[in-house]
Amino acid sequence: MTVSENPYILCIKVFCELIPKRLRVSIGSAAVLGLLKYRLSVPPTTAYIMSYTDGPCQANCSFCAQACGNDAEHDQLSRVIWPDFSLEDILAGFHEPAYPVLERVCYQVINYPGFLEDTVDIIEMFKRKTDLPVSVDICPVSRSGLEKLKQAGAEYISLPLDGATEEIFNNVKGPGVDGPYRWETHFKALEAAVEIFGEGFVGSNIIVGLGETEEDTVVLIQSLVGMGVRPILFAFTPVPGTRLEKLTQPDLLAYRRIQVARYLIVNGYAGYEDIKFKDGRITGFNVPNLVEVLSDGEAFRTTGCPGCNRPFYNERPSGPFYNYPRKPTETETRKELEELELN
Ligand code: SF4
Repeated sequence: MTVSENPYILCIKVFCELIPKRLRVSIGSAAVLGLLKYRLSVPPTTAYIMSYTDGPCQANCSFCAQACGNDAEHDQLSRVIWPDFSLEDILAGFHEPAYPVLERVCYQVINYPGFLEDTVDIIEMFKRKTDLPVSVDICPVSRSGLEKLKQAGAEYISLPLDGATEEIFNNVKGPGVDGPYRWETHFKALEAAVEIFGEGFVGSNIIVGLGETEEDTVVLIQSLVGMGVRPILFAFTPVPGTRLEKLTQPDLLAYRRIQVARYLIVNGYAGYEDIKFKDGRITGFNVPNLVEVLSDGEAFRTTGCPGCNRPFYNERPSGPFYNYPRKPTETETRKELEELELN
C-alpha cells in the first residue's frame, strides 16, 4: 500500500482540507507568535485569532468593521488590525518563546455559512496543537451547537450582547439594522451556555458608549451576574467606514464608574441596590471601605476570560487606558481613585 493509499493518512489529509486554510490574528498576537515584527509595549497574554472569510460577516453590527453593510476594511476589529496568515504558520508560532507569554487562545467567530462546523474543527485543532485553554466568542447557536463547541474542547464561551438595553441592541445589531440577532435569543443562548459550560465559564460583552445610561449598564451587569454570566466591558471605539464612525468614545470617568460597579457586583461587594444614581448617572456606592476594596487597581483592568488582557483594543498605547492591559501601578491606581472622588 502506498502512502497516498493509507486510509489513516488520507483521513488526516481530508480533515486538514476541511479546516479553513487561513485565519486572522490580532497584530499583537501575531508579533508574539513570531508571524511579524511589531513593537509591543504590553504583549497580549492571550492569542487572539479570528475567522478569515472572502466576504464580510453576514451580520450587520453598526460598530463593527466586519459587518456586511459597510465599507470598512475587513482586517480591523475595534482599533486593532488583524492580518491573515496560513494555518500552518499560525500553528508553528505556538512554541517557545510564545508559550511563556500566552495563557489562552481566544477564537473570535464571524457569522458566515458553515461557521459552526469550522469553529468546532478549529477548536479541536488548537486543543491538539497547544496545551492552552481555548475560549470562543461567537453569536448565539442552538443548544446542540453549544454542546458541540464544549465537546470540541472550548473551555469558555462568550455570546456578546454588546448593547446594554434591548432598544440599543435592536438598533445596533438587531432589526434596526436588518441584523439577524434578537435580544431574547441571546438571553436564551446565554442560559443554555451556563448549563453546558458552567457558571463562570460564560461571558457577554457590553459596549459602553452606545447611548445607554450608566444605570442601564449596571442593570445589565447585575442581571448577567445573577444568571452566572461574566459581564465583559468594552469602551465604544469608532472605526472608519462603519455606520458609527462619527460617534465619539464614552467619557472616561463614566467608564471608570461602571468599571467600579462591575467589580463590586462581580466580586460580591455590592448589588445594584447598593449603588446610587441620579438621572441615570452613578453618584455613589454604599460599600464600606470602598477605597481599600479598590486599592489593588484590579477594577480598572481589562475584563474577560482568565488571562485576557486585550492590549489597546479601545485606546492608544500612550493612553489614557479605558482598560489597563496590565496591573496598574500604585500611582496609577491612586490617580484613578482620586479622579473618581470616592473619599
Ligand atoms: S456578528 Fe460579530 S463580526 Fe459579525 S458584524 Fe456583528 S460584531 Fe461584527
